[in-house]
Amino acid sequence: MNHDTICVQGGYKPGNGEPRQIPIVQSTTFQYATGADMAKLFDLEASGYFYSRLQNPTCDTVAAKICALEGGSAAMLTSSGQAASFYAVFNIASCGDHIVSSSSIYGGTYNLFAVTMKRMGIDFTFVAPDCTKEELDAAFRPNTKAVFGETIANPALTVLDIEKFADAAHAHGVPLIVDNTFATPVNCRPFEWGADIVTHSTTKYMDGHGAAIGGCIVDSGRFDWTKYPEKFPGLCTPDESYHGVTYTERFGLGGAYITKATVQLMRDFGSVQSPQSAFLLNLGLESLHVRMQRHCENALAVAKALRGDDRVSYVIYPGLPGDRYYETAQKYMPNGTTGVVSFALKGGRAAAETFMKNLKIAAIETHVADARTCCLHPAGTTHRQMSEEELAAAGVPSDLVRFSCGIENAEDLIADIKQALDKAESEA
Ligand SMILES: *Cc1c(COP(=O)(O)O)cnc(C)c1O
Repeated sequence: MNHDTICVQGGYKPGNGEPRQIPIVQSTTFQYATGADMAKLFDLEASGYFYSRLQNPTCDTVAAKICALEGGSAAMLTSSGQAASFYAVFNIASCGDHIVSSSSIYGGTYNLFAVTMKRMGIDFTFVAPDCTKEELDAAFRPNTKAVFGETIANPALTVLDIEKFADAAHAHGVPLIVDNTFATPVNCRPFEWGADIVTHSTTKYMDGHGAAIGGCIVDSGRFDWTKYPEKFPGLCTPDESYHGVTYTERFGLGGAYITKATVQLMRDFGSVQSPQSAFLLNLGLESLHVRMQRHCENALAVAKALRGDDRVSYVIYPGLPGDRYYETAQKYMPNGTTGVVSFALKGGRAAAETFMKNLKIAAIETHVADARTCCLHPAGTTHRQMSEEELAAAGVPSDLVRFSCGIENAEDLIADIKQALDKAESEA
């Protein structure tokens, strides 16, 4: 099936007389005739539902759709994108381990890695997304367990050279984890370029309507953990906390990683997505392919208009010819990149504030990738805990405005921008 069809129908095939829309299984628990029936589920000998902290049919249906969109072998939903990033890494790294990450990543992920996971004893080395192969190789240590990057970074809009990062990861016997939130599988499928695990903040384009926080992890099933049993003991040796199951033996390469993350991490941390949220997410997914096209068309029109305005000091949009990442974006995302444009005004930070408050269609929000156009000044809000140096390393200068183009009319968006630019100029 093509991706458009998977967006609409993937993950769910109702039987005779069953609901056409996915049912919301709003139940914490599931009943069984005998204790022995349930014991088999606890021993992972039979598959089935027993408690929604581990698995829920609505969430599984939606995870299956995202899994099909990414071309993966297994997937799980999480309560948020943050939970997805944390689980994706913590599932294969413990205290004393090390991760190589692109420095150009979402501010929340940077904080999770550099501060919170560091407190758990996991070390991170951050490398520039356009570092040389040698610089990338030099970042690895014997205890490195994974490489992490974002297809299109939020909000720096750098484009990850997925093949370069995948090759380096594989040469060192570890998987590449890619946060594909900004591109979505409609525009890029990182597994086709060698990535092993994909994460999403489904809060963004997948939901697309600003209705529900959520996350997702998808496994390609292609990374062979059993080649490096000493590196990945959690997947290749018995889990005493789960009746001595060895995940790679029992569930194969296609199922080991997601099963472990579900029965171990979700059991212990419990960051589940609610069935209600999964239902809303699925409604968003049904139109993802149509919305992404419009988001990208609007963003390109806005980026061109901004570039043509002499009050604007720079425009960053990987879909714009001449952008630093245009060629890389053309390789990985020939049909479109994302709906987010970053730019700065010649008047700097102060002009940005005046500009933003005068916008009438675009709202100031801590959100992005929504059907409604919104904008944000990252250095003053989402990234305010970062120093000037960290901001520069993350590709987020303090004058940068992140402008998330919705699916409204492009001429209206541009007219709104122009009148706000006029006001920023006259109020300066
Ligand atoms: C928003 C975002 C996250 C975090 O997701 P939440 O759903 O807000 O927890 C992670 N990665 C990227 C690229 C994001 O844009």
